[in-house]
Amino acid sequence: MKPMGPIPPDYAGRRVLTIAGMDADYWIDRAGDTPAFIYDMPAIDRRVARLRAALPESVGIHYAIKANPYPPLVRAMAGLVDGLDVASGGEMALALEAKPGRAISFAGPGKRDDELEAAIRAGVTLNLESTGEAARALAIGERTGVVPRLAVRVNPDFELRGSGMKMGGRASQFGVDAADVPALVRMLVERGADWRGFHIFAGSQSLDTAAIIETQAATLALAERLAWAAGHMPPFVNLGGGFGIPYFPGDEPVDVEAIGTALRHAIDTCPLTVSGCGYAVELGRWLVGEAGVYLTRVVDRKVSQGETFLVVDGGLHHQLAASGNFGTVVRRNYPVALAANMDGEAVETASVVGCLCTPLDRLADRIALPRAEPGDIVAIFLAGAYGATASPSAFLGHTAALEVLARAHQP
Ligand SMILES: *Cc1c(COP(=O)(O)O)cnc(C)c1O
Repeated sequence: MKPMGPIPPDYAGRRVLTIAGMDADYWIDRAGDTPAFIYDMPAIDRRVARLRAALPESVGIHYAIKANPYPPLVRAMAGLVDGLDVASGGEMALALEAKPGRAISFAGPGKRDDELEAAIRAGVTLNLESTGEAARALAIGERTGVVPRLAVRVNPDFELRGSGMKMGGRASQFGVDAADVPALVRMLVERGADWRGFHIFAGSQSLDTAAIIETQAATLALAERLAWAAGHMPPFVNLGGGFGIPYFPGDEPVDVEAIGTALRHAIDTCPLTVSGCGYAVELGRWLVGEAGVYLTRVVDRKVSQGETFLVVDGGLHHQLAASGNFGTVVRRNYPVALAANMDGEAVETASVVGCLCTPLDRLADRIALPRAEPGDIVAIFLAGAYGATASPSAFLGHTAALEVLARAHQP
């Protein structure tokens, strides 16, 4: 028997799974079938409210659409957060349906000229990843007669680590090396761009509260150093994010209240604040990851050489991360439960395997469960971020994942 990660607090300790007040069958009915991702909007509302209360007022909240670009969810997020961060022309088009261009920033390497032009015309801030991209954006601004909104993404000389921070720069396709930033800023200002400040993103999925606090302080210090060197005060600094969520046994959530308190102190004492600089954190996973549940139905129950397999109608083509094949070194179990019997006595050890014809498709490995039969619904938690769109949905020709945005008080 192998352990599982913790079931998120919104769903833990229940007898029967409910999402936004309704049970799994209700949401499967709304989706039309299994497998389906259900996104719990009331849980996301609470999450954003908690973060807002923790952060200083001068720090806005941005949602990084990459984590979950399901359009109804993006539209709902747009009403809760101050900005949307996008990383492709497609994400930008989606964001522009929900927010004005000035509330959107576009980061990511390899932006094509047509993407740069669409962003400039829409008033979207481009987070420049290189001096070459800066030159192309300026040329497009001159050609179109639109003043481009340009921020400089900095390749920081430190990294956010799950366990402390690794100092020392490294080569990267992301951002402009800190040493090259001051000259670039001067050039942007001289060429008449609307310079929007800095974007400094040092890492992702950290559960180390102290490391996040240190990284935010280092980020502010770096922005200040670059501002002095450039001779221009930034109007805005995007501080990055990187708040993780607990996926695996022993993982503990980050303490956002402690982060907010430390950030308030760091910002109050930062000279950039005095000159009117605004700030934001950009988060994907922390905002939406715990609020998604992947519901899949047991199709077959079989025993092979003494081991029990629950074969479900979902799989890694929808939820790659739960199979351990999305950026993890060692395969560990996501939290999983039987939707109709979450607290039943665990009477057997079973593996939950998907319907793909590959041994990689193992959604839970030898976990303790109450007895499950074909027809039962298995809930795989932590499916709100990097799920449906981060999985190889065309692999093996199964149907695409169904998705539902669960709102409160539905009839
Ligand atoms: C992916 C990404 C994010 C979101 O990261 P999470 O771990 O989901 O919070 C934010 N900013 C940038 C620049 C990214 O590339």
